[in-house]
Amino acid sequence: MERFDFAVIGAGPGGYVCAIRAAQLGLNVVLIEKEERLGGCCLNVGCIPSKALLESSEWFYAVRHKFSGFGVWAGKVTLDLKTMMQKKTETVRTLTDGIGMLMKKNRVTVLRGTAQLLGTGRVMVTTPEGRQREVGARTIILATGSEPSELSFMPFDHRVVVDSTEALAFEEVPGRLVVIGAGAIGLELGSVWARLGSRVTVLEMLPQIAPFADRQLATMLQRSLTGQGLEFHLNARVTGAKVKGEQVTVEYTENGRAEEVTADRCLVAVGRRPFTRGLGLEEAGVKTEAGGRVVVDEKFRTTLDGVFAIGDLIRGPMLAHKASEEGIAVAEVAAGKPGAVNYETIPNVIYTAPELAAVGRNEEELKAAGVPYRSGKFYFKGNGRALSMGETEGLVKILAHAETDRILGVHILGPHASELIAEAVVAMEFGASAEDLARICHAHPTLSEAVHEAALAVDRRQIHG
Ligand code: NAD
Repeated sequence: MERFDFAVIGAGPGGYVCAIRAAQLGLNVVLIEKEERLGGCCLNVGCIPSKALLESSEWFYAVRHKFSGFGVWAGKVTLDLKTMMQKKTETVRTLTDGIGMLMKKNRVTVLRGTAQLLGTGRVMVTTPEGRQREVGARTIILATGSEPSELSFMPFDHRVVVDSTEALAFEEVPGRLVVIGAGAIGLELGSVWARLGSRVTVLEMLPQIAPFADRQLATMLQRSLTGQGLEFHLNARVTGAKVKGEQVTVEYTENGRAEEVTADRCLVAVGRRPFTRGLGLEEAGVKTEAGGRVVVDEKFRTTLDGVFAIGDLIRGPMLAHKASEEGIAVAEVAAGKPGAVNYETIPNVIYTAPELAAVGRNEEELKAAGVPYRSGKFYFKGNGRALSMGETEGLVKILAHAETDRILGVHILGPHASELIAEAVVAMEFGASAEDLARICHAHPTLSEAVHEAALAVDRRQIHG
């Protein structure tokens, strides 16, 4: 048996980051991954390829619909989907190769194969060639991530009824695309294909899109996406589907009425579930709860001694950056240091246009919890930089405690919201009040002035609104 101090199962943004941190702390680390390329779903079939396509499709959309308003005429614009996909693949390859290099630099041993937990300190790795190799490690980290959830009555056929992986790699633009679920995946990939020419219909069973977002911003985003050609059906529960040749008819009830829609492709984006198949959790004594999440305590310890779990496998939002933070924390815990994650300040972003970004609690949550709060808003149409970019949709909303003024939540719908939210995360991490933000000098002209103005607006003293 080959012995290490620390074994990480799964090389996604939770696992590979954890492996690096453990190596930095002087541990002898092995990283076990079943796929050929490191990086997990996020880098290979999730965050990164989707951002590549979002970027490319946004240019395509802009050149067709926006450039002329700025006095730029591009003539006949055509789509070369093959090149767009190649660019996406190159981006993914550059990043996943980079992780391989990071592993070498940090002297992390990478083992290609599928891991099965045998018990405390023991893992069996089966290589792609079928050879078995036992690995021993004092600490074992489970970081195997998640996989797309399926609707029982319409399983993926990976051709017409597809998951996000396939919807990132269509060989041609579907004439008509139905998306089930208006969460991050549905809205991002729905946007990509709508920009490239698909007629996109989104079916969402809840009364708002982006259900975890502040309602006001979610409603504004829906209006904006509708303007870009996406069609939304809310309170729409999918009940069945029939695939016939190259088409699928999706049946749903909308506000109690039976409806159906026929399309060339149907993307099912109704959430993800922890990926634990074949890991041998039950046999080894690692407890899971309903829905398959691994039960852990505040230090990421599972019910089996010496075995920890992080990322999509455990509680909390399924987000790459949350997994990475947990990876760092658990490596520090294993090395006897006080590793921890502040779950109150994990940002959440949906990369539509405009982008939707949030940290902390939204208005509906504060109302439900009976927390007294004041809200400061600033609309991008009053921001000079946004106006010159032609990106005036959306707003910044800051929610602060009515008595202490401490910032409880920041919600941004607008250009580069994904970047702007970082300032709010820093402020909340340092326990800032809205006045703290309001007294910070922001460069002019920048989009960040909208954050400044929203902070001023909490006390009704915004300058430009
Ligand atoms: P999600 O949980 O974000 O959204 C799923 C949506 O599907 C919800 O709005 C839900 O109400 C709806 N839904 C569920 N069952 C339905 C049904 N039968 N009919 C109609 N609607 C139904 O899940 P997702 O978009 O699939 O994403 C999966 C995970 O990946 C999420 O945790 C998400 O946060 C993460 N992710 C994050 C990003 C990002 O950070 N930008 C991008 C992609 C995915």
